[in-house]
Amino acid sequence: MKDILKNSSHYWLINAHVPTPLLVGAVVENAEEYAWVDLEIKDGIIASITPADTMHDTSVAAVDLKRGQVWSCFVDVHTHLDKGHIWERSPNPTGTFQDALETVGSDRQHWNPEDVYRRMEFGLKCSYAHGTQAIRTHLDSIGEQTQISFEVFRTLRQGWQDRITLQAVSLLPLETFLTPEGEQIADIVAESGGVLGGVPRMHPDLDRQLDRVFELAKDRQLNLDFHTDESGNPHDITLRHVAAAALRHQFEGSILCGHCCSLAVQSPEAVDKTLSLVHEAQISIVSLPMCNLFLQDRTPSSVEAKTPRWRGVTLLHELKQRGIPVAVASDNCRDPFYGFGDHDVLEVFTQAVRIAHLDAPYEDWCRTVTTTPADLMGLPQLARIGVGLPADLILFKARYYSELLARPQGDRIVLRSGRAIDATLPDYAELDDLFSA
Ligand SMILES: [Zn+2]
Repeated sequence: MKDILKNSSHYWLINAHVPTPLLVGAVVENAEEYAWVDLEIKDGIIASITPADTMHDTSVAAVDLKRGQVWSCFVDVHTHLDKGHIWERSPNPTGTFQDALETVGSDRQHWNPEDVYRRMEFGLKCSYAHGTQAIRTHLDSIGEQTQISFEVFRTLRQGWQDRITLQAVSLLPLETFLTPEGEQIADIVAESGGVLGGVPRMHPDLDRQLDRVFELAKDRQLNLDFHTDESGNPHDITLRHVAAAALRHQFEGSILCGHCCSLAVQSPEAVDKTLSLVHEAQISIVSLPMCNLFLQDRTPSSVEAKTPRWRGVTLLHELKQRGIPVAVASDNCRDPFYGFGDHDVLEVFTQAVRIAHLDAPYEDWCRTVTTTPADLMGLPQLARIGVGLPADLILFKARYYSELLARPQGDRIVLRSGRAIDATLPDYAELDDLFSA
């Protein structure tokens, strides 16, 4: 089976279970949660899709998937590749958000071009092996770090263009946009084909800061991506301010807001007010469940031995019911903001299902890590399964969601342009010399 998938340019994948929301264009009768289909792969493209059990030309090789699930490759729309894999050098001493900020701040002294390049590439190798085909990464944009990280990013984007489509977003406190440095950062983002982003905080000047960001974005025709309300404080309503600013500026680009944790601890009236504006402003939301579970509701053990009481995630169901596009993504990986992770979007989806109850029913939640983030990145041809589309697919042995989400699926096969890739994960020891200096 592997030989065919590695070497053959024309074959059939028969007996596949494709989650119905991932299928485009194909007419599959009686498909419910899954469509039971055969897929013809030819010259890297999905050449045809037929109901399973159809007779095919027997001169063409066939791989029987025995009802194993076939997904499109993943899109990871919110990551921090520049922070990744520094845990051995800079662990978070308490696990709190404040110590995450401070620990990364002091680790940044090591972020020369080689250090950033090697750790970012390590993240890309993991992502690729697990089946991700597009990634948006935030890059800490502060002082001289901005030039260093964006330059490394551009080099990696070029080197990886055939494997992973990369997008960069600036990450800085919003008040910096009121200074000349903010304008320089907007220029670097524009030169890098990136997305303008930052962290709004509740402040008397917030609307003025947002006005400046929207002006800078409009002048350069940039899309926007904010870290909003990553806290359990019900008074944090920067998301509402972002939405109001978008409407005030009649902004026509796309806007993505990440986290929005505080929505989950606000009154129904407050939530309603914010979601109405978010919907009207056509803002999309990305939830980062693993990072939220790690950081939210944490008290340092030196203060009090306390068990967390809430899950930290935003109102995924309520947002979706309003027709607001919702994605789920990785966020941080083995750094002070999240001590674990392996850039595996299946793990992210599995955890999201468990944390936010995306399982009863599964509906079209599989879109949160595929078609929706692809659309948010402006890549609407990616992450779906249809005739004429590239055969960028993930083959699982698991037949049903209960099987898919029960095991880590380390034996999945990733096809890129119809060929099985070498899905060996990078060795942690590759980075050892970065931490011994
Ligand atoms: Zn983030």
